[in-house]
Amino acid sequence: MAIARVALDLPLHRLFDYLVEDGEPLEPGLRLRVPFGRGEKIGILVALPDNSELPPEQLKPALEVLRDTPPLPPEFFRLCEFASNYYQAPLGEVMLQALPPGLKKPRAAKRRQLKPKAGKPAAVPALPDLNPEQAQAVAAVCASQGYAPFLLHGVTGSGKTEVYLRLIAAALEQERQALLLVPEINLTPQLEARIRNRFPGAAVAMLHSELAEAAREREWKAAFLGEARIVVGTRLAVFTPLPELGLIVIDEEHDPSYKQQDGMRYSARDLAIYRASSGRLPIVLGSATPSLESWAHAQNGRYTLLRLQERAVTAARLPAIRLVDTRRMNLDGGLSPQLLEAIRKRLEAGEQSLIFLNRRGYAPVLSCTACGWVSRCSRCAANMVVHLKDQRLRCHHCGFEVRIPRACPTCGNQDIHPFGRGTQRLEAWLAETFPQARILRVDRDSAKSRKQWEALLEQIHGGAADILVGTQMLAKGHDFPRLTLVGAVGADAALFAADWRAPERLFAQLMQVAGRAGRADLPGEVIIQTEYPDQPLYGALQAHDYPRYAATLLEQRRQAGFPPYTFQAMLRAEAPHMADAIAFLQAASGLLPPEHYPDVLLYDPVPMRLSRLWSLERAQLLVESPARPQLQAFLSAWRPGLESIKGPSRLRWHLEVDPLEF
Ligand code: ADP
Ligand code: ZN
Ligand code: ZN
Repeated sequence: MAIARVALDLPLHRLFDYLVEDGEPLEPGLRLRVPFGRGEKIGILVALPDNSELPPEQLKPALEVLRDTPPLPPEFFRLCEFASNYYQAPLGEVMLQALPPGLKKPRAAKRRQLKPKAGKPAAVPALPDLNPEQAQAVAAVCASQGYAPFLLHGVTGSGKTEVYLRLIAAALEQERQALLLVPEINLTPQLEARIRNRFPGAAVAMLHSELAEAAREREWKAAFLGEARIVVGTRLAVFTPLPELGLIVIDEEHDPSYKQQDGMRYSARDLAIYRASSGRLPIVLGSATPSLESWAHAQNGRYTLLRLQERAVTAARLPAIRLVDTRRMNLDGGLSPQLLEAIRKRLEAGEQSLIFLNRRGYAPVLSCTACGWVSRCSRCAANMVVHLKDQRLRCHHCGFEVRIPRACPTCGNQDIHPFGRGTQRLEAWLAETFPQARILRVDRDSAKSRKQWEALLEQIHGGAADILVGTQMLAKGHDFPRLTLVGAVGADAALFAADWRAPERLFAQLMQVAGRAGRADLPGEVIIQTEYPDQPLYGALQAHDYPRYAATLLEQRRQAGFPPYTFQAMLRAEAPHMADAIAFLQAASGLLPPEHYPDVLLYDPVPMRLSRLWSLERAQLLVESPARPQLQAFLSAWRPGLESIKGPSRLRWHLEVDPLEF
């Protein structure tokens, strides 16, 4: 009989001991089926201790040792332990969320089936000659030894993906596996096809959260067993154990979708950096608009900066960006005469236009002109958005919806109006103004599922649209060859948003959406409507000058003492009453003697910007330190105390390290 210490998927910072009687030798990393409460669970064996804190007669026997896969490797343990410490998350939760669902369900184990390893890649298609900057980038990464982080900075179309593909080829050549992480929305059949075409002989595993359970388990196992040589996936793929990993690439490294926003709030980019350093690997972060954190690292020498300053296809020039000052203008449907004229010209020439408006729905709010009633969500501190097509008012935060009322619910007045403009309203207006044009709207309402999104992309590529209207979904890495005009409307809103990261995101979005214009042999034009043409953000955008804008923002951050010059964590609490949430945070605030942590600053608890969600009041407490180790030491000491604070039963809280949104 051996004692097995097991990690289980529970919100508890502890492990569980079981007795195991098994003919074959036991090893950490094996999965066990164990009794738990009245049911059973799948856990991961993390240690084989000589003794348990419990007397032997209290230890329950495990039900089964699962050997359908080899044990999870030490590398997987290291990554999960790091994530558990760094994000203050229970080890069991971290380890088990990293497995595909099929491997953590109690069920009879299947026989282990090993496919033969794929052979060397077959003949590859003819490759373009790299331009000098690309060649230099590839050479630099290939020449690196051990842990070597690179930031590959280049505008859309500058040939970053081509560089990734060469590096992947080099890794395969060395008999190593390559891991390519992409934002959720970029994992399209086009990307998959591009990779499969380039590497016809190599087995490719695709990993994302929308895969059916069986497919996810199959792809994950292929990666884990070393059969798949190239693994392409979204943030969750960062945890995939890869026995022969030789290269990590993170495309669009600034993309917020690398940050998980619920459960364990981790950054796949940051974990990938850890993984590269502990595995002594090269890692390439690519972006046209790097996160300020990564840019600062490239400036201070922690990352090596590689730059692609030209577009790869010489004929494709960077689009001209024009600002249209709308202050003294009569806008028609929200569009300036200049933008309308530009759309008209594209229609005549048979070219595509894209109008970018980052607000879905018909209008952000419905309101009564007589009594001032507005369509508030009854559960959230937010307005309900008008969705005219389905005759619905819908809350974009909690999903609550009601029929659009005919008259004002408060005063009975029939004169109620939608205010403001979303993508649906713009679409409707464009359809009226250009009846001959085929208009396609792309946002989270028209592309709810991956299937719908892929169908829309196919339509766009097939030339089935003259005018595209959409949110940032349209901004992401897709080639639309006949697209020559991009118009951006309503962008100003993000300039003065309460979230101080909003301008950084706006710059990235506008840069990305501008990059859609004129990729092939047709020159592109970008028109941005604004009431603040003198804002430095727009100036830098016109000059295609990310480094200048990044320098401005970094200087502001330094002066204000914001990240990346400080390190932060956020404690959030929610409860039916705000007073309870605040009281919890206040108690948390007094847990540790401040004199023990002189470098850690705790702010006063405050209600969150969205102060009510799903009928729960929400508050937050910001913790800040100029040094990462001090912050980490504080959090490690703080977290157990938080668990012992007695609050009302419906109080819930979580801790987020490196919060992205405020
Ligand atoms: P990015 O990832 O930076 O947007 P891509 O790698 O997708 O850029 O390159 C943009 C386009 O230029 C693609 O069609 C690609 O095939 C082409 N391309 C990339 N590098 C070269 C090169 N050295 N010579 C010719 N075409 C290239
Ligand atoms: Zn009214
Ligand atoms: Zn709501």
